[in-house]
Parts: sequence; structure tokens; C-alpha cells
Amino acid sequence: MNAQLAPDLVRRFADLVSPGHALVEPADQARYLIEWRDLYRGETPLVLKPADTVEVAAILRLAHETKTAIVPQGGNTGLVGGQIPGPGRGEIVVSLERLDRVRSIDPLGNSMVVEAGAPLATVQAAAEAADRLFPLTLASLGSCQIGGNIATNAGGTAVLAYGNARNLVLGLEVVLADGRVWNGLRRLGKDNAGYDLKQLFIGSEGTLGVVTAAALKLYHRPRGLAAGFVAVASAAAALDLLARAQGAAGFGLTGFELMSGLAMEFALRHLPGARLPTATAPWYVLIEVSSSRSDAEAEATLVDILDGAMAAGEAGDAAVAQSLAQVQDFWRLRHGMSEVQKQEGGSIKHDVSVPIGDLPAFLGEAMAAVTAAFPGCRPVPFGHMGDGNIHFNVSQPEGADRQGFLDRWEEMNAVVHAVVAKYDGSVAAEHGVGRLKVDLLETTKPALDLELMARLKAALDPEGILNPDRIIRRT
Ligand SMILES: Cc1cc2nc3c(=O)[nH]c(=O)nc-3n(C[C@H](O)[C@H](O)[C@H](O)COP(=O)(O)OP(=O)(O)OC[C@H]3O[C@@H](n4cnc5c(N)ncnc54)[C@H](O)[C@@H]3O)c2cc1C
Repeated sequence: MNAQLAPDLVRRFADLVSPGHALVEPADQARYLIEWRDLYRGETPLVLKPADTVEVAAILRLAHETKTAIVPQGGNTGLVGGQIPGPGRGEIVVSLERLDRVRSIDPLGNSMVVEAGAPLATVQAAAEAADRLFPLTLASLGSCQIGGNIATNAGGTAVLAYGNARNLVLGLEVVLADGRVWNGLRRLGKDNAGYDLKQLFIGSEGTLGVVTAAALKLYHRPRGLAAGFVAVASAAAALDLLARAQGAAGFGLTGFELMSGLAMEFALRHLPGARLPTATAPWYVLIEVSSSRSDAEAEATLVDILDGAMAAGEAGDAAVAQSLAQVQDFWRLRHGMSEVQKQEGGSIKHDVSVPIGDLPAFLGEAMAAVTAAFPGCRPVPFGHMGDGNIHFNVSQPEGADRQGFLDRWEEMNAVVHAVVAKYDGSVAAEHGVGRLKVDLLETTKPALDLELMARLKAALDPEGILNPDRIIRRT
């Protein structure tokens, strides 16, 4: 790989985009080089901002020919460092931000075609303007781009009803590592004519191709919404409640978020104006029900679920939001969970999933294991119970040395991941692998999985120029 780029090669790359869109000055590059949580700081000879697919293709052709590493970048909200060029590696950043057009929208066919650099919020707004819903939604929606969402197979809070990004893509346009453009922008609901190639690129974190456009699935907009906040005695009771809610609401169950009692205590302590909607309990659940007809219908379904849960002893106390503002207050408690943990000192994070039915057992064992191994530590798990995906975060013991606690990050990971392995779970459930979890993947994935992944990488990117050393290490 070309680690030191000669000035004339930098110039050849810069000439592939129009003037002003090849950034070499540190001040101009800065925002492309710092990751959201400031865990990674990058370095690059060049940030390129191509205008269209043709320019992206030209960049990759030259990169392939000269063995120059390329780091595709969307909205730079990824949390595992994949979009940040490594220091001293000569990696060129290709930002997709100028490919931000909505190419077409077909409300009757429930599809739209957008370019990769369109921010998720723009995609949602374009769908809404056509009276449709693009259901993918994340807290980073104002900054993240649809291409980044696809490259990371993003999840978010509506996965329970609509699936991950993978389920929302009908087709893709991808620039391959050698600069050829694969036009897979089909809008077909059914297509069994051979391998489903688009799925290879979804979740590949920029290691197999650069997504330049996508055909997306749209849905009719729900006409009604109701949200409930429920106090439950245990994670097992929350699982019973989930089954009850799915039975009653079917696809209308659009949210089911679990929060531990301590995570909630942190939120109430640190979120300005936060108020607990129910009596205190060991666990809480936020339920959201949608209706194709009206708020009243959504609320009737929700109340039915909650009445049944109270009668069965699954719920101790429950509140139903009486206004949109209250719905937002409920979600604010959930969305604030990560942020408030910072106020309690160091926090060691695990983005894991296990089969949904095993979640209560997993949580019980993992919480017992970390408190035995790190006396005084405070597990504060929360997350998308409906997807089996929990952010198993552990806060430092009260009054302990923050850095001393964080220095034991890998030790803590090993304890938690051993329990994840026992339940045949995933150690990279939502945020992907990037640079952060490459070593972890090597030690937790079966050898045959790793071999097949390496073979795919070699087939699609023989020179290893696309996001090298993300997901799998270069051999
Ligand atoms: C506050 C906050 C909340 C979040 N919530 C969630 C959540 O609920 N669920 C979730 O899944 N994630 C979440 N994330 C993580 C992040 O927002 C998502 O991973 C998002 O999908 C990344 O999109 P991006 O455009 O910012 O991509 P970037 O961060 O720019 O890139 C991410 C990866 O994708 C690659 N990439 C980007 N664009 C392309 C492209 N066009 N073609 C090929 N590869 C590309 C990059 O090389 C990199 O490896 C959250 C992040 C933040 C900061």
C-alpha cells in the first residue's frame, strides 16, 4: 500500500474534482478527521469531495492503479472509527457529501432513489413531502448520510417494525474498487435472478465498494401514535410484556426499549427537567404503538396491552403519554441514557445482541459477572429489547479513579463477551466493527467466517485499497 503519497500523485487525485473540492489545508480538513466521541483523530494528505458518481469512479480507478488507500466518508457519525483515516497511512478521504440529490420518488410504487450523501433527515423529509415514511431513524439523523447508514446497516429505534437499513434497500449503485460502476439500482420487490449482490455492500463499512446511490423502500405514514412508559420488576417481566405487545399490536408495535433502574436514576439526576412518569422500579420499558388510522386507535391498543400486563403482574405501574410533548419527554429519557453516563465518570461500553428470548438470562449473568470481577462497578444496560440489542454499559464505582477504571476496558470486555458467547450473541450488534473491533472479531468469529470474509474482500478489492484494516486486517 502507498503509505507516503508523492506530491504529484496528490495533485493527480486533486485534479479529478473541481477546484475547491480537494482539501489539503489542516483547517479545511479538520472536521473530516475527528470522530464524534473523539476516540480517533485522523491524518490525510487529501480530502476529496466529488460531485457525482463519475468523479467517484475516476478517483477509485486511479487509487486502484496506484494502490492508494481510500476511506469513504459519509456524515462522520460512525462510532467505531471506520471513516477516519489512520495517521501516517496515506489514506485519502472521499467525502460523499456533494452527492446529496433525491433523484426520484414514486409514492404509488413506495420507493425513492437518493444519492448516498443525502443526510438521513433530508431523505425522511422528502418521503414525508410525498406523504410517505422512510422509517429508518437514529439520534444522528441530522448529520449521518443514507450512504453511511447503508454502509453500516444502521439500526435505530424502529427496527422492531421495519428492520435495519438492510431491509429498507431495494437496490444500490456502487463504485467498485477498480472504478467500475455497478448499477444495481433496481426497484424490485422480488428478484431471485442469482445472488443478491446489493446485500454484500450493505453493512460492509466501505470495505467492498463505495455506495453512490440507493433505491429505498417507503411505507405509508402511520396516522396515529401512542407511547407508554412502564415500570417492571425484572427483565423477564419486560420480555413477557414484549410478547404481549407484539401479539396485540403486530406490526403496529414500533418501539420497545428497555432501561435499567440505575440507568434511569442517572437520567433523572442529570437531564435538566427530567421526571419519572411512573413509580420507581428495577427496570422500565418505553412502548410505542402506531396505527394506520388514528391516535385514538393507537392509544386503545396500548391501553389494552397495559391493562393486560397489569392484570398479569407483568407491569407494576404505567403511564400513557397524553400529548406529543409527553411522547417526546418519554423518548428524551431513553435518548439521554448515553449522555448522562458521562456525568457519572468513566463508562465501559458493549454494543451486543443475544437471541431475544435469552435477554433476561444474559442480563442477569452479565451483571453478576461484572460486579463480581469489578467490585463496586455499576452496570447500566439499556437498549432495543425488541431487537435483542443491548448497550451493556458499565459505569465506574462511585468515587473511583476514572482513568484507572477505563484502563481495564479490555478486561471488562472479556468478562461481558464471554457471557455473550455463551448465548451465541454478537459483539458488534449495531455500530459495526470499523477499526475499534477488528481484534475482537478475530478472536470471537469462527475461523471459517473469517476466511469467507477475507475471500470476499480479495474478490471485490484485490489491491486492498478500500478502507484497509477495517472489519478484517489486510493479510
Ligand atoms: C448520537 C448518535 C446516535 C447514533 N445512533 C445510532 C443508532 O441508533 N443506530 C445505529 O445503527 N447507529 C447509530 N449511530 C452510529 C452512526 O450514526 C451510524 O453508524 C450511521 O449510519 C453512520 O452514518 P454516517 O453517514 O455518519 O457514516 P460515517 O460515519 O461517515 O461512516 C461510517 C462507515 O461507513 C463507511 N461509509 C460511509 N459512507 C459510505 C458510502 N457512501 N459508501 C461506502 N462506505 C461508506 C465509512 O467508511 C465508515 O466505515 C449513532 C451515532 C451517533 C453519533
